[in-house]
Amino acid sequence: MKTVLVGVGQAGGKIATALAEFDAEMGFGAVVDAVAVNTAAADLDPLPLETVLIGQDRVSGHGVGGDNELGAEVMQADAGEVLGTLSSLITSEAEAVFVVAGLGGGTGSGGAPVLIRELQRVYDVPIYALGVLPGRDEGALYQVNAGRSLKTTLREADATILLANDAWRASGESVTEGYDALNRKLAKRVGLLLAAGEATQGVGESVVDASEVINTLRAGGVAAVGYADAPAAEDPEENLNIVISTTRKSVMTGLSLPEATTADAALLAVAGGPDRIPRKGVEKSRRWLEDETGSMEVRGGDFPLDSDRLASIVLLAGVERSDRVQRFLERARQAAEETDEEERAREDPSAAFDNDELDGLL
Ligand code: GDP
Repeated sequence: MKTVLVGVGQAGGKIATALAEFDAEMGFGAVVDAVAVNTAAADLDPLPLETVLIGQDRVSGHGVGGDNELGAEVMQADAGEVLGTLSSLITSEAEAVFVVAGLGGGTGSGGAPVLIRELQRVYDVPIYALGVLPGRDEGALYQVNAGRSLKTTLREADATILLANDAWRASGESVTEGYDALNRKLAKRVGLLLAAGEATQGVGESVVDASEVINTLRAGGVAAVGYADAPAAEDPEENLNIVISTTRKSVMTGLSLPEATTADAALLAVAGGPDRIPRKGVEKSRRWLEDETGSMEVRGGDFPLDSDRLASIVLLAGVERSDRVQRFLERARQAAEETDEEERAREDPSAAFDNDELDGLL
């Protein structure tokens, strides 16, 4: 799927860069172009992408802090400039646009949904979001911002692929190392998905193509990506169990949104040397995915790649009914209530006692 990436905010710019770099390293050519948009000049400087600094009249290049309402206002005010930069990049070759952002911050959180709405007005190709949800241990403001941003993004985007910052956590990593590793893992999963059918090496029997990715994402709502790989034997017969086990692993432990397995639609692409991919293994894994997701709309096929390993790349779409998504929304609602209460208490300290749980003494 020929894609233009727009990273909004700090996380957005870094993840768009990781995706563009993965695509270039693999020689796929699925990422047509990538742009980073931010209110903070210092976050744009290190990125090897074309950049647009917005909101200079409001925040003078210093960012919006965690104020996602300001992030949204600034994007609205400068949308013309961002669309102007994108107009020469989103050519007729582009089959989709991905707006990438951390949903818990300020610029990406507020700016991404506004930009998606503006892009929807101009372009006929699907406009997807690739969003990062804060981990459980991130503060209340991140949870509230992400809850509000996700609600709006889901309304505006054709589909929203989510990465939970709790996914794939390795112990002992610093936060920055952790982010870089997460970004690379996400870039690999999404990068392979964008390249499926785009940059196949060799002839497969039943090759997944871009339209199958787009049709799967037509389920809309929240989507998640999964990945697992393993060394493969030369004889495809010997690889049947390998494909079944990498498919299970990609869903059970490799998902960008852990446990979000109840889906409206799904896609399985089995990547590897075309002579090593076991047809029966792909079909069995596809049927396993039907059972696991409860969806009758599960596509499956090959992604021929010059490799002695086999990988299962899974896309689940319409996973918002999953407990995982509901738990996040509950966390965001609670954080919003607590923040409201704190705010009321600040404005009127006696308001902290306005509740039924605490009875007066006399
Ligand atoms: P913005 O620049 O105002 O849009 O704010 P950020 O992009 O820094 O958004 C903050 C949220 O994104 C928090 O939940 C962070 O944990 C997360 N975040 C920041 N940088 C990264 C990154 O490089 N990778 C990932 N996965 N998350 C990040």
